[in-house]
Amino acid sequence: MIRENLEDVRRNLEEACRKAGREPSEVELIAVSKTKPVEMLMEAYRAGVRDFGENKVQELLDKIPAMPPDVRWHMIGHLQRNKVKYIVGKVYLIHSVDSLRLAEEISREAVKQGVTVNILVEVNVAQEESKFGVAPGQAAKLAEEISRLPGICVRGLMTIAPFVEDGEENRVYFQKLKQLSVDIMGKNSHNKSVGEILSMGMTGDYTVAAQEGATYVRVGTGIFGERSYKKES
Ligand SMILES: *Cc1c(COP(=O)(O)O)cnc(C)c1O
Repeated sequence: MIRENLEDVRRNLEEACRKAGREPSEVELIAVSKTKPVEMLMEAYRAGVRDFGENKVQELLDKIPAMPPDVRWHMIGHLQRNKVKYIVGKVYLIHSVDSLRLAEEISREAVKQGVTVNILVEVNVAQEESKFGVAPGQAAKLAEEISRLPGICVRGLMTIAPFVEDGEENRVYFQKLKQLSVDIMGKNSHNKSVGEILSMGMTGDYTVAAQEGATYVRVGTGIFGERSYKKES
């Protein structure tokens, strides 16, 4: 089932790119494996997936040693400052940085370990009360401030669009994030890396996000099936 789902997702992404005049290689797929057991992750791995997304530090720490070493782990969930030390040096990209204090903690830990941590600034484009992320008007300033810290590199922006029935409704938010990225690059012309990555689009709207410039889409349900939040793992 996972292999077939992946084929569908990849085909949909290719079609979306073709429609938008983009190269399919410009959009990378992150398989969001939160709550799913390692056997299912391995099935996706055998079908070619190397990028996995998790939203809880403990679950990441449990899964990392259980999976092959060439997996690129993406921290996509809200991150508390006191947990930063556990994941620095272990994850490929942190998608969910939305405050200077969190970035400072990542920077401190990165310097301590002698590594550089790649991060994205999470933006609450739809300005939903329930969501983390910095307001669109604050994103440029935050990216600029973080860029001055040692051991941390802002590679782009991430957003979690509203939960909607029809993914088409989120097109405006993806366009907004893309535009924000262009604006921030304009203001930070010395720092090209801030415009490299746009992490946007989930199961319900990843084809729309791909058309609007996503460089990473984060798909969970569309690959692994529905999640159940009963006691697992
Ligand atoms: C769970 C999650 C996803 C994947 O959601 P699906 O709708 O299952 O594809 C993507 N991004 C983030 C930040 C998530 O927490």
